[in-house]
Formats: sequence, structure tokens, C-alpha cells
Amino acid sequence: MSEVILSAKNLTKRFGGLAAVNDVSINLVRGQIHAVIGPNGAGKSTLTHLLSGDLSLTSGQIHLDGIDITGWRMERISRQGLGRSFQKTNLFLPLTVFENVRLAAHFNLDLTKKAIRLAKLEHQTHAVASNMSHGEQRQLEIAMCLAADPKVLVLDEPLAGMGVTEAERMIDLLHSLKAEHAILLVEHDMDAVFALADVLTVMVDGQVIATGTPAAIRMDTGVQAAYLGEAHE
Ligand code: ADP
Ligand code: MG
Repeated sequence: MSEVILSAKNLTKRFGGLAAVNDVSINLVRGQIHAVIGPNGAGKSTLTHLLSGDLSLTSGQIHLDGIDITGWRMERISRQGLGRSFQKTNLFLPLTVFENVRLAAHFNLDLTKKAIRLAKLEHQTHAVASNMSHGEQRQLEIAMCLAADPKVLVLDEPLAGMGVTEAERMIDLLHSLKAEHAILLVEHDMDAVFALADVLTVMVDGQVIATGTPAAIRMDTGVQAAYLGEAHE
């Protein structure tokens, strides 16, 4: 049986007259990567901010692990089990991998070690963040996200700016994390999306135009017209 960890219903976020996210519902299931794709400005990042509590909802409801977290603040949602990828600025560049993750783990040594192991950074435990490659720094962000022992991971374009080899390593990492987590993945790299996603949601202009398996989404003529066709011209 699939286990829904996060259930978001009818989420709407208005910025003045603009409905950046318009009546979006999404379920995240343990053991699945749910990718959200769509053109620039579709509302993908705004959706991630609504789920993590960085932005307040205009309307809608969110349940995490059966608990109504609607309207909760970010820190409380994080403690309840939702981790979102940190922007690069959240890394402390002069500190090592271990020191960065230990801060994110609130000095819990077991969680620190576990997060470093899950993020496949054990060989870099004592590397200084500023000396690491872009790809390794993004891995470190994932480790910091894992340091709170989340059930749900919300990742906004974790492959951005990566070369082929770095992207492959991140894809392997995300694949290895999905057994124990429910993952929402916003990503522009369509090869990565189709390699990783169990379920895809396509957003255009704040609205969901389709949700389904990668195979179903690929065949969806509405999606092709609105997005994939245009992206693969
Ligand atoms: P995506 O991540 O899919 O590219 P975003 O969620 O970043 O899209 O943006 C969706 C829409 O909401 C865009 O039109 C964007 O300009 C607008 N928007 C995003 N954040 C804000 C904000 N803080 N204030 C006003 N408009 C915003
Ligand atoms: Mg975005």
C-alpha cells in the first residue's frame, strides 16, 4: 500500500492580482519521487515555499503525517518532518562538511553522521565547504536537509548548474534517498526527471494541467502542447 506522507489540498497563493499557485493539490508518498515540472513562472518554487511554510497560504490545507500543519511556521514544519533544500547561501563556506551538518543537526552526533552517510559525503567529512565543487556543495545542502531526519524532502532544482558527471551523481543520490522518504522534486532537467520520477505533475500559470506516470505524461497531448513539445523543439 502506498503511504501518503504529505497531502496538500487546493493550495492557492496570490501575490496581489496574480495567482502564482492556483488550486493545486498534491500527494507525496513514501518511496516515491514526485516531480513537478512546468515553464518558468509556472509557480513551482512558490509551491515548494507553501509546503515548507516559507510563504503563507492564501487558501488550502496541508497535512503532514496525518497532522494538519496548515498555517504553521517553517521551523515547526521542519521539526514535524519536512526538509527543504537549502539555498547555497545557507552553507557556511569556511566550515567543513561535518561542522555544517552538525549545525543543521543541532549538534546531534548520530544525526550528523547519518546525514553525511546518506548524502554520500563520508569521504569528504572534513573537507572545507569552500574547497568543494559546485556539485559537492549541492550534496552538502542535501546532507543539511537530511540532518533534521525528515520524512519529506522538498528539493527545488537540485541539479541546477551541474555538469553531466555531477548530475549523474546527484541522480544516484536522490534515487538512493527515495526508499525512506517522500520526495518532491522540482527540476528542469527532463532527462533527470524522466529517469527519477514515479509521478509527475505539470504546472502552467499556477495550475496543474496533468498528473500521472512519466509514460502517461509523455503521451498527454495537452502537456506536449503546453510544455514538452516546446521544450524539445
Ligand atoms: P517557477 O518556480 O515555476 O519558475 P515561481 O513560483 O518562482 O515560478 O513564480 C510564479 C509566479 O509568481 C511568477 O509570475 C513570479 O513572478 C511570481 N512571484 C513569485 N514570487 C513572488 C513574490 N514574492 N511576489 C510577487 N510575485 C511573485
Ligand atoms: Mg523556480
